[in-house]
Parts: sequence; C-alpha cells; structure tokens
Amino acid sequence: MADLLPAQSEGWQKVESLVRAHFCRAGLKEIRTPIIEKTELFLRGIGENTDVVGKEMYTFEDRGGRSCTLRPEGTASVARAIIQNGLLNNGPQRLWYGGPMFRYERPQAGRQRQFHQIGVEFVGLDSVISDAEVISIAWELLKDIGLNDLTLELNSLGSNEDRYIFKENLKDWLLKRFDLLDEDSQKRVNSNPLRILDSKNKDTKKLLRDAPSLSDFLSKESKIRFDYLQQLLDNLNIPYKINNNLVRGLDYYSHTAFEITSDHLGSQATVCGGGRYDSLISELGGPESPSIGWAIGMERLIILAGSKLLDSSFPDAYVIHRGQKAEQLALKITCQLRSVNLIIALDYSGSSFSKQFKRADKSGAKWAIVIGEDEVSKGQLMIKKLKDIDKEEGPREYIFSIHELDQLIAKLIA
Ligand code: ATP
Ligand code: MG
Repeated sequence: MADLLPAQSEGWQKVESLVRAHFCRAGLKEIRTPIIEKTELFLRGIGENTDVVGKEMYTFEDRGGRSCTLRPEGTASVARAIIQNGLLNNGPQRLWYGGPMFRYERPQAGRQRQFHQIGVEFVGLDSVISDAEVISIAWELLKDIGLNDLTLELNSLGSNEDRYIFKENLKDWLLKRFDLLDEDSQKRVNSNPLRILDSKNKDTKKLLRDAPSLSDFLSKESKIRFDYLQQLLDNLNIPYKINNNLVRGLDYYSHTAFEITSDHLGSQATVCGGGRYDSLISELGGPESPSIGWAIGMERLIILAGSKLLDSSFPDAYVIHRGQKAEQLALKITCQLRSVNLIIALDYSGSSFSKQFKRADKSGAKWAIVIGEDEVSKGQLMIKKLKDIDKEEGPREYIFSIHELDQLIAKLIA
C-alpha cells in the first residue's frame, strides 16, 4: 500500500478533475459506497471460484462477529446500493464511482494492494447502444487525458445458455489434455474452465490454440448483438481488436466483454476492463436489470499519463517581506488576494530581499509583491514583474497603496 506524496498528488488531482468533467458531460451521476461490505456480498456478487474472492480479499471479523471485507472492486457495492435504496424505481441508472480498492496481490509496478479505480455502471439498460456508449466514455476519457497507443480488445461471452454449453465442451476438451496443463489451470478445469483461456502460461497458451472457441457457440441472437456493437463502434471511429480468449476475471459477465490495454505498461498492460453483467442485480435480490460497466485503474492511468501531467500551475504572485510589521501585512495581503482566486505563495525564509527574489523566480511566479518596513510605514507595497516581460513594456515595478487593493488585483490579472 503506497503513500501518495505531494509530488504526485498534483498529477492525480489533474486526472481526477478531467475525469469529473468528462463524466459530467456524459450526464453520469456519482455514487459513493462504503469501503467495507459484508463478505457475503462479494461471495455472491463476484463468485467464489474467482481469484479475487479465492485469494485476494482482505476479510476480517468485526467486534460483532460479522465477516467483513474491504471492497476489492466497485460493481458489487454499487449493485447492492442500487437495490437497497430502490434507485431503479426512478428508471435506469447511469452512474460513476471512484475510490480505493483492496486486493491481496503480489505488489509490482502498476499492481498494489490498495489501489484506486474509477468506474462507470449503466444499470437497467439492455440496448446495444448502451454497450457502445459505455465503451466510448472510457475510450474518449483516455484520449482526453492525452493517451494514444491504446488497444481496445473486444469479445462476446454470449448469453448464459451459450456460455453453459461452451463451458461443458471446453471442460471435456481440457480434461482429455489434463496432463499437458500447467498446475494452476489443472486446478481450474472443474471450477472455472473459462479462466484457463486467459492463462499466462506459455505451454498452456500454445495448447489452447486448438481449443474450442466461444465464438462458435454463440446463438444467432448473441451473434447479431455482437455484430451490431461492432457496427456502432465502427461508426464512432473507435478501433478494436476481437480477442476470443478475453473472458475477464469475474463470474458475472455476459455478452460484451472488453479491455483497453497499452504497450507502455509492461506486464500489467490492462488499464480498463469491463463488460455486461445482466444477471448480477437479480442474483443479489433486485429486479431483473441488464447492466454494463467498466473500471479503470488510476495508478496505471497515472503511469501512462506520466509527463503529460508535469506542467504544474505557477503562482500568480510570490510575496516577499522583511520585518515583523511587514510580515503581518504580507500574511493579510496573501489571504486577501487568495480570496479573489489568485494563486499566492508566501515566503517563509526570512532571508535577505535578494535571496527571497531568487526564491520568487524559482517558484515560477509571474509577479513578486514586495513589503518592507519602509513600505509598511508609507502604507504602500511594490510589485515587480518576474516573467513574460515584453521588451517595450517600460517599467516592471509598480507602487500601490495598501488601501487600493482593487488596482493591485487588476494589475496582477491583466
Ligand atoms: P489484472 O489482470 O491486471 O489483475 P483484473 O482483471 O484483476 O486486472 P479488474 O478487476 O478488471 O482487473 O479491474 C479493472 C482495472 O483495475 C484493471 O484493468 C487495472 O487497471 C486495475 N487494477 C486491478 N487490480 C489492480 C491492482 N492490484 N493494482 C493496481 N491496479 C489494479
Ligand atoms: Mg487481477
């Protein structure tokens, strides 16, 4: 679990505000759910045979003897909150969420035990255009943040019936080749054979080239649906690659499944993962509500955005002062200027004027505001322009009365 230090938090804030603006334009509403849920929610909502539930959850008993879990993902909690608060009585829900998630995994670059996700959930929407809109919100957001070289991988997992028939076929095929499978895959043959399809083991991958493909088991309706989604994405000029082995880790997906990957993330290549989960809400006790959503890992997003986030915001002015009376006035002026939305840095070094000027230059501020004992006794202050200087501009220093801050402000924002 990592600290987020001041040098990084500025980049996070920039991404977060871009994300919020993007979701606002898409008409999404935010939902915030607790970080702790009953363990049972994830057992039912994610599935007991998944890696997340089987190996990765932080589960503990509270003082009342209840089994609690730090949320490993957001969808199950959002589904619970929607059902518990009857939100579907107001019609389909188009929501977003963000916050920390917890999974006991081996930490490495782009993989932490406390990490952050932002996610979108469309609950109660069945139409293929909702699939296309959900995907486009993720795709356009990543482009907004300045990322390119992304790949959208797409698959259809078919209906529950399609998948059931395929699962049985795949299981038979795998059992005939049991000895050729890696140890992890051998454990999954009976419990979760679909997951073997995205095994990272080289030999298993090679073997699977001849395995039955889910695409051959899709019903006519599922195929029509998948073809239409591709047509809608073509129409939006969103490029994609069909990956028939993309199954996603959680049990609740059906029809559309997708991931957005980048070559710049090493082995932790997936920045966004999502899909359709038509039976989750009803399985958790809510009304039949077809749904689709995705989650983006913030840490991986920040790694990708990298240098694009570095142009930090500079102060409008840096306040330089010497002497006790000057110090009081400096603090007061600083607060007054901040209250009209200017970014003001206040010197704390107490060193000579020339050293304070050097600091002002280094801060990147456009103006220095200078307050000495002399200025205080005259009820004045001096400002000096430090950058963006026009050669024909003439004087770079101006004197203002401390009782006429309006004029000072006008000069600073000019
Ligand atoms: P992976 O295959 O990388 O483990 P996943 O399929 O478990 O991913 P999802 O549950 O789909 O991941 O979560 C969506 C996104 O959240 C991922 O694409 C990734 O960007 C991010 N994510 C998942 N687990 C972690 C983690 N432990 N640390 C950082 N980011 C993570
Ligand atoms: Mg994982």
